[in-house]
Amino acid sequence: MVKNNRLTEAEYQVNFSDIHPAYTNSNAAMVDANRCLFCYDAPCTKVCPTSIDVPKFIKQITTGNIKGSAHTIFNSNILGASCSKVCPVEKLCEGSCVFNLLDEAPIPIALLQRYSTEKAIAANWQLFTSKPSTGKKVAIVGAGPAGLSCAFNLSKEGVDVTIYEKESKAGGLMTYGIAAYKVTPESCEEEVNYILSIGGITIQYNTVLGKDITINELQTEYDAVFLAFGVGLARQLSVPGESLEGVVDAISFIYQLRSQGFSSVPVGDKVAVIGLGMTAIDAATQAKRLGAKEVSIVYRRTQDEMPCTQVELDIAKLDGCKIIWLAAPKEVLGVDGKVTQLVCNNMVLGEPDASGRRSPVATVETFTLDVDMVIKAAGQMPFDTLVSGSNLNNKSGKIAIEDKASTNLKGVFAGGDCVNGGKEVVDAVQAGKDGAKAILNFLF
Ligand code: SF4
Repeated sequence: MVKNNRLTEAEYQVNFSDIHPAYTNSNAAMVDANRCLFCYDAPCTKVCPTSIDVPKFIKQITTGNIKGSAHTIFNSNILGASCSKVCPVEKLCEGSCVFNLLDEAPIPIALLQRYSTEKAIAANWQLFTSKPSTGKKVAIVGAGPAGLSCAFNLSKEGVDVTIYEKESKAGGLMTYGIAAYKVTPESCEEEVNYILSIGGITIQYNTVLGKDITINELQTEYDAVFLAFGVGLARQLSVPGESLEGVVDAISFIYQLRSQGFSSVPVGDKVAVIGLGMTAIDAATQAKRLGAKEVSIVYRRTQDEMPCTQVELDIAKLDGCKIIWLAAPKEVLGVDGKVTQLVCNNMVLGEPDASGRRSPVATVETFTLDVDMVIKAAGQMPFDTLVSGSNLNNKSGKIAIEDKASTNLKGVFAGGDCVNGGKEVVDAVQAGKDGAKAILNFLF
């Protein structure tokens, strides 16, 4: 039965506690930092989308220069604290650490990064100063990672920034779209306040593009505009029965969890999650941690093609989620308007497409799962209506850019998920930096 308040408050706290706890003492961080070989031409830095100088910040930790270490990280990635908790480091910095070649554990770069950045935020170390105001004004749409990163890099150069945000809190995906056991809403808020403390950045909350403001108005009022409104609409399954009660989308489910508290979010006994990206894993594991008895993840390809990382898959398995490979939803069945079963097709992989990825093809074989909740996590779509009514060049709703950030509209730039359709937080941070650089070139 779909119901809320399944567990005690203490059980929720345990289930949603930090999955990668921080160092409990400085000695442990020092020991790990001292293992680093400080590689020349460090592969960990090369593979970081924001090019954090990893050996430098680790060296600074070994000498007790934690402020310097935090400055090194934030200078490349102002969301370095959040990224230390949500980056898929196993395929980025830690995955490229030379210790992997020696069959030894890589340096725990993310944990060390968290060590320095959390200290900086907790102590509110002011590591950057803004140049005096240049009188230039820039509007940013969206206070997620791309918008905040762009705002920080503009404000450092004396540009006054106003961010328009549709929600009542900043942080975007970090605040509303990631599993609570990875990063808490509270730590997101602290990070946002830390970024804002540089000065020169104002956020207008509860302000929706296309309703409260338009791109045209922003173009008139500001010297430049940066669009960073992300993606947010769940892709539909387009199968019969999708509108039955108990069929929800993963984005709304996670949003509820993050904004309302665990006990108030309804979850079923038997839950099927469709998809195997990071959002699907976050939805499945959290459904289990909310008290669902059985969670099955239905994925239409094989493990070789899965979009989530092995680490994420392991989390889901350890939480007791079952993975059903090569299966896709065919129909949702219900009684009295409520979902009771999910009928799936068995799939096979066909020929590779242009990208080399093999497409799944439905067979005539089906199977049926008894479920009382279906969570759709089959990808996200751009905010098509925002883009299509605005003369912005776009590809299927994703804003088209040139030179890393310029749109076809003069003085209007864009970056992050609204351009790339949804990548990692760290990619959005870099897109914000690219946007700021392009805007500074345009303004001065
Ligand atoms: Fe240190 Fe590993 Fe980076 Fe080399 S690759 S600098 S050992 S973290």
